[in-house]
Amino acid sequence: MHKLLAQQLEEARHPDGTIDLDLFVELVAASYEAADHDRTHGLKAEIAHHTGELRESKRRLKQQNARFAAALENMSHGLSMYDAKQRLVTCNKQFLDLYRLPQSLGRTGTSFRRILEGRVVANTHIGDDPIGYVEERLQVADRGEAANAVLKLNSGLVVAITHQPLKDGGWVSTHKDITELNHLQEELAHLAYHDALTSLPNRHRLQRQIDENFTIADGIGSFALLFVDLDGFKTINDTLGHAAGDAVLGQVAARLTETVGERGLVGRMGGDEFAVVMRLGAVAREADALAGDLVEAARRPFRANGQNCDMGFSIGIAVAPGDGANPEQLLKNADLALYAAKNGQRGGYRFYQPAMGRALTERVELQHDLAQALERGEFELHYQPILNLTTQEFSGFEALLRWRRGDELVPPSRFIPVAEETGLIVPIGEWVLREAINEATHWPRGLRVAINVSSVQFQPGNLVPVIMNALAGSGLASERVEIEITESVFFDNSSANLDALRQLHALGLKIALDDFGTGFSALSYLLSYPFDKIKIDGSFVRALDNAQGAHAIVRAVSEIGHGLGIATTAEGIETAEQLRNVYAAGYSEAQGYLLARPMSAAQLRLMLKQDDDSMPAAPMAQAAG
Ligand code: C2E
Ligand code: MG
Ligand code: MG
Repeated sequence: MHKLLAQQLEEARHPDGTIDLDLFVELVAASYEAADHDRTHGLKAEIAHHTGELRESKRRLKQQNARFAAALENMSHGLSMYDAKQRLVTCNKQFLDLYRLPQSLGRTGTSFRRILEGRVVANTHIGDDPIGYVEERLQVADRGEAANAVLKLNSGLVVAITHQPLKDGGWVSTHKDITELNHLQEELAHLAYHDALTSLPNRHRLQRQIDENFTIADGIGSFALLFVDLDGFKTINDTLGHAAGDAVLGQVAARLTETVGERGLVGRMGGDEFAVVMRLGAVAREADALAGDLVEAARRPFRANGQNCDMGFSIGIAVAPGDGANPEQLLKNADLALYAAKNGQRGGYRFYQPAMGRALTERVELQHDLAQALERGEFELHYQPILNLTTQEFSGFEALLRWRRGDELVPPSRFIPVAEETGLIVPIGEWVLREAINEATHWPRGLRVAINVSSVQFQPGNLVPVIMNALAGSGLASERVEIEITESVFFDNSSANLDALRQLHALGLKIALDDFGTGFSALSYLLSYPFDKIKIDGSFVRALDNAQGAHAIVRAVSEIGHGLGIATTAEGIETAEQLRNVYAAGYSEAQGYLLARPMSAAQLRLMLKQDDDSMPAAPMAQAAG
């Protein structure tokens, strides 16, 4: 092409590459004004030719531009493009809106600096140093490196940004508003790491904190883990309902948070178990102080259903790295310490000690052996006579379970709680019922058998058929069976349990309330079910020897029995003095070592046979009647 023409063509070019045709023609016309007509004519033809070409190129460009503009305006991201001199080539409306920039800043040629300053004005910059911010962004753009980032603007929006350098020295960047998504993610993260009921960090969050502390401590730094378990929570849940229980858990969470303050992270492990991961650097002394504060904090009552309820915190403490070189070990040992605290005094705390591990091992072994004891036939029942104080004759015998574990005869206090926790008490209790009922068929007619039934045995819901089957299998009259329960039967699922008791009563069995005075001994239990008998716990009988108030209590229980027209039994009588006292107090029955110790079934049969041989059967029958 003509050199001059090419030059004029460039002069008429817009920054976006399109050509201003009118300007071009003007330029050309001006330069040739003085030239001769013919030459001009020839040139005109050439110009006409180029003009046609140019018109076509302009049309295509226009079309392309329109497509590009449409794409730009319809994309979901904000987009901006700069040239090598950091001047805006183009941007879309989304970009301007996102950063709340005025239309005027969207013009081609606007400097990047002006756009950044516009963002400061609109408060869509980042951080609290606007000048520093602008300079820093300019430098970053200068480096010409590709980058992706998620940034939170001062306006609150969260933006995902990509920055892509171009070959000619400029760059293109995209900007997407992900505030909503980010919010959702945060919410998910919160859900994943927080307990829904109390909003405290959950087990996973605590675990992460422990892991982090271990990483930072690197085997040298010390920190303590406290497991906090609520004493008396189950009772609140059982007696006041789960809604009240939830409310109390909320208060516990608040009180723990308040007491711990900056000393560590409080979380809920689950159920009524909480934990505190103390700050790195906290040694045993500080853990001791915190545990003391927590125990103290639990002394203020909690509120449920408008009433005060007493609870305590039992706390187990393990201090890393001494009590655990890794997270698993530390958690396990804090748990062991908690277990020891739970079995100690209510509302106390214990530091981990290696001996605690051995105690647990023993318990695990006990559990393991207990699971097989039934199959191996290691259980036996002993029977303790019950004396009728009016007739001075035995009215029956209480069946008491024994476990022959190797050479040892294990008392029920050692294995019944474990059997209850594991549910093994259900099959074991079934065996007891069948065995005791069968054994009683060998005794003279008037004598009863008293059988202890754990509240856990009510849970499967088949206690009544189990007892009916045992009776049917043996042929023993239902009137000769007395079921001894404790008030815990009224805690869980009490209406179903009450139904079961009523059915048993309707079948002719007697129902006794055992260990009266040791638990809550709410008198309402006595009204909620028409018991045939109350057994006052042996601890009150023993207290008759020294505690002043014991006489009053022992007498009061007897009077309640008289008032309700039901029998009363005094357990654990060891001395003649105690026997005189309960007799004077008006009890109808007595039981204790003084009268007879529990004996094997064979011993009992022998004793009954001797009685039978030495005296007529009548007094015995009379005793029971
Ligand atoms: P319990 O039903 O109150 O039984 C009375 C306990 O007092 C028995 O203890 C008995 O041996 C003991 N005892 C009797 N007279 C005296 C005395 O004069 N002084 C003292 N210090 N104690 C006396 P044992 O046999 O160790 O049973 C303890 C508890 O284990 C029972 O208390 C009962 O709650 C439970 N238990 C026993 N057998 C069974 C069973 O077959 N099933 C269930 N679920 N629980 C059982
Ligand atoms: Mg009993
Ligand atoms: Mg008892």
